[in-house]
Amino acid sequence: MPEIKRVAVVGAGTMGNGIVHVFAQTGYDVTMVDVRQEALDGALKTIGGNMDRQIKKGTLAEADRDAALGRIRTATDVSAVADADLVVEAATENRDLKFRIFEEMDRHAPAHAILATNTSSISITEIAGRTSRADRVIGMHFMNPVPVMKLVEIIRGLATSDETTRLVVETSERLGKTVAEAQDYPGFVSNRILMPMINEAVFCLMEGVADREAIDTVMKLGMNHPMGPLALADLIGLDTCLAIMQVLHDGLGDDKYRPCPLLRKYVAAGKLGRKTGEGFYDYRGA
Ligand code: NAD
Repeated sequence: MPEIKRVAVVGAGTMGNGIVHVFAQTGYDVTMVDVRQEALDGALKTIGGNMDRQIKKGTLAEADRDAALGRIRTATDVSAVADADLVVEAATENRDLKFRIFEEMDRHAPAHAILATNTSSISITEIAGRTSRADRVIGMHFMNPVPVMKLVEIIRGLATSDETTRLVVETSERLGKTVAEAQDYPGFVSNRILMPMINEAVFCLMEGVADREAIDTVMKLGMNHPMGPLALADLIGLDTCLAIMQVLHDGLGDDKYRPCPLLRKYVAAGKLGRKTGEGFYDYRGA
């Protein structure tokens, strides 16, 4: 399998633009693909703005920013993955959409290319089953915000080869990330542990164990978490938290993963956290 030189990232939202940022800054040529031109324009703007902040902090030279931005191409059609050695899919968290994108990527990417997904919870083995190259499909789970967070959780599907894993681990380390490997079970490691904690915090709120500030303060000052679980849920998006809890509940079949009714209620009311201006906290004046 050839080494990885050219990369494509499919989906240019919150995660996609961060992933493109770190690859371009590390020296990879990157094709950024999104079905929406405005997402591509927005992502280029965000990447430029974030790099400018790095320059102000003295962690990036102006010439390196210009070179990195010069390595990014954009496209609105998945066929643009045709020259990639590695494709990282970071499109919307929806099973059927991801299945469709992987079928398309499989058709267009070179035979040797690795197809990785940034999914938070969808089975790598099921996604791989939609392609003709299950040995070259893998989970490459970056954390938000990608340029800042050190971890990449690497998830092996049932058929993922050792060679694919080796190349993706090496590439992640080249990006300056630390890798943790997990097997393909619902929620992997990160969300298997994080989401039940957030869900339990919502149960505490629902049952009146404490108010939102007290719950978050206990976890921040008592457990040394940088953010309380309710504030973190607002950052992630309450719809995303609910979707992941449902994957854990369906996939593991244990009632301990039952989504908290109050979480369902917030999502039903459209209070999804920061992205809608209101979740457990109110951000409308911020
Ligand atoms: P987002 O909604 O910000 O961005 C998704 C992008 O995908 C959008 O720009 C959309 O236009 C694009 N898209 C939709 N269909 C497409 C298609 N057919 N082809 C190309 N692009 C398409 O979502 P996000 O928060 O960036 O999440 C992306 C992935 O990363 C999801 O799988 C999510 O679970 C995962 N993830 C998210 C976080 C987080 O904190 N947001 C953290 C880790 C992993």
